[in-house]
Amino acid sequence: MPATDPAELTARLIRCPSVTPQEGGALGLLQPMLEAAGFSCTRIDRGGVANLFARWGAKDAPLRFGFNGHTDVVPPGDPADWRYDPFAGVEAGGRLWGRGACDMKSGVAAFVAAAVDFVTKTPPAEGAVIVTITGDEEGPSTDGTVAILDWMHENGESMSHCLVGEPTCPQIMGEMIKHGRRGSMTAAITARGVQGHAAYPHRARNPLPALVALLDRLARHELDRGNSNFDPSTLALTTIDTGNPASNVIPAQARAVLNIRFNDSHTGTSLSEWLEQEINTAAETGITFDLDIKVSGESFVTAPGAFTDLVARAVKTVCGVAPELSTSGGTSDARFIKDHCPVVEFGLVGQSMHQVDEHVEIDHIHMLKAVYLRILESYFDQRPTTTSGTGT
Ligand SMILES: [Zn+2]
Repeated sequence: MPATDPAELTARLIRCPSVTPQEGGALGLLQPMLEAAGFSCTRIDRGGVANLFARWGAKDAPLRFGFNGHTDVVPPGDPADWRYDPFAGVEAGGRLWGRGACDMKSGVAAFVAAAVDFVTKTPPAEGAVIVTITGDEEGPSTDGTVAILDWMHENGESMSHCLVGEPTCPQIMGEMIKHGRRGSMTAAITARGVQGHAAYPHRARNPLPALVALLDRLARHELDRGNSNFDPSTLALTTIDTGNPASNVIPAQARAVLNIRFNDSHTGTSLSEWLEQEINTAAETGITFDLDIKVSGESFVTAPGAFTDLVARAVKTVCGVAPELSTSGGTSDARFIKDHCPVVEFGLVGQSMHQVDEHVEIDHIHMLKAVYLRILESYFDQRPTTTSGTGT
């Protein structure tokens, strides 16, 4: 049986117009390939989103290595802005072009190709290889990986370790593995006072000075200084609006939004409590404050150890670069998987993610498949000695 070509598979996936939450034919393309290699596949469709679970080997095998990724993509914008049709999967100049080329149809193609070749050429005596692919990573993420994990829980399926194939390398292939992520929360603060004439401020109650003083205090506050696994947490003010077109009117209300990216010194709850306290203090000025908080993910870290070492060795062997362990960047579906099993992320150079003219180096797709194959080979030869290592 010839080796599965991950670049050709990436091109075919790009030709599936799977803008969230459209399946676009992407899972329909992968499922028969996996089934032909002996995977049993289940479509887990929930809330209008299509997802795929595939397992090769026994459900109760002692080692169950999982891959996770998504085939949905962000919209391309105006196709006329693109050098090539974003859904044509054009190969030019040693690169493959199109929406999802980088984030992350290439990652999915690389791990599906690695998994298929591994179980057909060197099947492990005792082990299971699991592939989970979602169509809701770029959307609300409520019916994607979460739906797969819910289904797995209900059906007695589990992974002993998992690798997410999102792009992780800033510039050089192999330079970064993500072993955790910062948490993210957004808070909208509305300050309400009493509208009035700017010439008679004593008859009004201006919400702006109290809001500005509060925001200044929040922005100056040192959340923490970081630790061995994380950079310091950050708070960014993203907008301040009064919507007031008149220079002689004191507005009745103003609104500000801030985003906090936090490490494991905090939780969404602890930060919410801090914001509430600060707002209660600010309310002593006579201005009323409303707080609307959305926590989109808690921080987590998979402790460096046997599993991260195994992945790092595979990367070094194939790419010739010793990867750094990092918790930088935004959130990913690893934030859900960390409650299920130890999880790390490794994938391509992510520079053109979500951009016009998204593209990927074809050589890198082949390297990525080789890394994933190497990980599978080492994993089933030499088991990581620890299954613990998740934290909050
Ligand atoms: Zn992605």
